[in-house]
Amino acid sequence: MDNSILRNRDLTTLWHPCTQMKDHEWLPIIPIKSGKGVWLEDFEGKQYLDAISSWWVNLFGHSNPFINERIKQQLDTLEHVILAGFSHEPVIELSEQLVAITPPGLDKCFYADNGSSAIEVALKMSYHYWLNKGYKNKSKFITLSNSYHGETLGALAVGDVSLYKETYQPLLMQAITVPSPDCFQRETGSSWHEHSEKIFSHMQQTLEAHADEVCAVFVEPLVQCAGNMRMYDPVYLSLLRKACDEYNVHLIADEIAVGFGRTGTLFACEQASITPDIMCLSKGLTGGYLPLSVALTTNNIYQAFYDDYENLTAFLHSHSYTGNPLACSAALATLDIFANQPVLENNKQLSRYMLESVSELGDHPHVAEIRQTGMILAIEIIKDKKTMQPYPWQERRGLKVYQHGLQNGVLLRPLGNVVYFMPPYVINHDEIKLMAKTAIDGIHGATQ
Ligand SMILES: *Cc1c(COP(=O)(O)O)cnc(C)c1O
Repeated sequence: MDNSILRNRDLTTLWHPCTQMKDHEWLPIIPIKSGKGVWLEDFEGKQYLDAISSWWVNLFGHSNPFINERIKQQLDTLEHVILAGFSHEPVIELSEQLVAITPPGLDKCFYADNGSSAIEVALKMSYHYWLNKGYKNKSKFITLSNSYHGETLGALAVGDVSLYKETYQPLLMQAITVPSPDCFQRETGSSWHEHSEKIFSHMQQTLEAHADEVCAVFVEPLVQCAGNMRMYDPVYLSLLRKACDEYNVHLIADEIAVGFGRTGTLFACEQASITPDIMCLSKGLTGGYLPLSVALTTNNIYQAFYDDYENLTAFLHSHSYTGNPLACSAALATLDIFANQPVLENNKQLSRYMLESVSELGDHPHVAEIRQTGMILAIEIIKDKKTMQPYPWQERRGLKVYQHGLQNGVLLRPLGNVVYFMPPYVINHDEIKLMAKTAIDGIHGATQ
């Protein structure tokens, strides 16, 4: 079997996600045969370093023997069972562990099977909580500009990346959007902390004006990943927690991308010492193996639904594959690795090395900023550094870096004009060097 036969078969029947399919008239699809560690291999033996963890899901490498073994054991025991009225060991064990490792006060786990669905759960749960409590006017949500929470209609409505959202506006409920603490926008000389603190005044004012009609504020703690890896200081989250308490509004933390160590701590909320009212997890939850998501919440929210059946206060939301046992066993294996190996400690060193490896780009005429939070590093390329004028999106500069990466065996997938690394945690120094060199050369080439 070679790549080209599979490519033709692929294009005959597949419609790929997030893709203008016409691009594939000249941009070849890459069929992958196998994966091992940070490496993916195609059908002609060419290897690609997975610098983006296959859309931010993989934590401990492809085909990890330890996770594989746990899934195989589970497969011979129980592949799936309905989670309404029934339960199983992996989902009980996983819930106990999630409650133990997430911020204190998150005591109940409601499962779904992908990130967007967990956001839909959070939306409905928050709205329904207030309804059950007698707040009939609360039906709106506050979101940050440049935020991303997924692609289903509810999730899209509380996001703000126009590339994904604009087309579908007429189908979406209206969210209240306040300026993001995105520190790329800070004034020169101002620190991340100062900028994040200052910009919070917009949130404060919005809460003050709208609290009586607002159910919750949605945030991606510390890094707006799909929004071009824009980052901010934990102080924003501390202020938000206080304000949400003051104005009687839920705080919903979308840690779907940033959870499980990406920002340096197991969960990003830890850096502000806050507990959200609802926390959504997915992506790294199963180590990048199987679709699973969870909305964790407080006993207080749970109790607002707990009543005699005929009072009709129950949360009647479900998905067919909710809490799938195979996915839960992959998640348990992933949590075992965190428990038994000094993952976060090792990552500190890896993230330092990532930064060192691209430091020569610091004074590149078309690099506006190199920014980093934990294991996420982003390089923002720009047309004019003095006026901060971006490259027009039509030029697709990032795509040139993508193509350069593929030629050199590295899967980089820039977001617009932002080249970033978000690799599996099993990456070593030589692999970081290769990833960095390829990005540096790609950026040189794409900005000529
Ligand atoms: C990926 C992502 C989602 C959506 O998850 P899916 O599994 O792709 O539906 C939601 N929020 C954030 C922050 C994400 O990065």
